[in-house]
Amino acid sequence: MLNKLRLLTPGPTPLPEEVRLALAKDMIHHRKQDFVRVMERIQPGLQYLFGTSQQVLPLSCSGTGAMHAAVTNLFAPGEKVLVVEGGKFGERWREIAESQGLAVTSLVTENGHAVTDAAVREALDADPSIAAVLVQASETSTGVLHPVRELGAVTRDRNVLLVVDGISAVGISPCPMDAWGVDCLLTGSQKGLMLPPGLALLSLSARAWDKVRAVGPKNFYFNLLAERDKSLANQTLFTSPVNLLQGLAVSLDLFREQTLEGVFRKQWAMTAMVRAGAASMGLELLAKTHFTWGLTSIRMPAGIDSSVVLKAAAEQCGVVMAGGQGELKRCVVRLGHMGHVDWADALAGLHALKVGLAAAGGYSAARSYMEDAMAAYDGALEEGYPGMKA
Ligand SMILES: *Cc1c(COP(=O)(O)O)cnc(C)c1O
Repeated sequence: MLNKLRLLTPGPTPLPEEVRLALAKDMIHHRKQDFVRVMERIQPGLQYLFGTSQQVLPLSCSGTGAMHAAVTNLFAPGEKVLVVEGGKFGERWREIAESQGLAVTSLVTENGHAVTDAAVREALDADPSIAAVLVQASETSTGVLHPVRELGAVTRDRNVLLVVDGISAVGISPCPMDAWGVDCLLTGSQKGLMLPPGLALLSLSARAWDKVRAVGPKNFYFNLLAERDKSLANQTLFTSPVNLLQGLAVSLDLFREQTLEGVFRKQWAMTAMVRAGAASMGLELLAKTHFTWGLTSIRMPAGIDSSVVLKAAAEQCGVVMAGGQGELKRCVVRLGHMGHVDWADALAGLHALKVGLAAAGGYSAARSYMEDAMAAYDGALEEGYPGMKA
């Protein structure tokens, strides 16, 4: 093969060698002492990652399974929730809630725009029967970052839970659960955590646990109270993905070594870099102000089909990127820069984008896009990310 395969999608993401070696280990038994040691090792790392003193529960499922577990454990049928629908994954919150007999009020945001805390406050004021706000920290389908911190300031003083799908935010951009007043934070293994798919992680605040107890267990499989008891004993309810948890232990060590601040700094700088490179090619970015730090959604010029761009980028450069979702499918390229990805991968992504565009319509980029991208990276790395402690 001429080119190295570069997976620049918003999940799954490439894996560090340390993690791959851990995944390759032989089986250990999930009811024996070796497994208890893995569980003991991961819990402090998970609490650091989530920014919480609560237990973080590993669940054997993809990220959507954790969304389902949150909805079924936190709410009884008939309860009302406010869903922020900013794209495909916001829509998924609504679909899960409706499938469980909840009444849903949707706050639909325009493609590329984040919800505002004012809009959420207004919706909650208008209907005091709303029990929770369900939102994505990062809406991966459009590359929009919702203002979770501001939403926490709205919900924390009310009897309203803030339930956050952090699948493309945890380990990518800040979302400290306790400090921001998040009542439920969940993620999946294949985005920021540098692991294969198949594992989800979920944590609840003290008042969310009270709510779970009040609702009472309905599930046999995703019974979070029972799962929490097991977790406190460094066990899981059923046979867990042992290899993924061993890989997670190593990935969490890497987060500790690099520190969350160091990881966020790198993520922010890569985001600045890809945005500058795309802008320098004359391309329009979908999210103008509230953008995610783990992927960049880039609009295609009129008449250019993103599937043609993606095919050429993969075939000619070995770079695999994603198209848009839903109505944006063919008008957008989503360049993923989350997980074990660095500036050189992002540069490869920009180059592949240029090659793909040329193949799709003879589009030719300004020659300076690589220099512009690297200058933005160096500048952002030096300056640090928004909200970073000085
Ligand atoms: C990827 C993703 C999901 C879906 O996760 P699965 O692991 O495919 O179930 C949900 N929400 C967001 C924000 C995501 O990025």
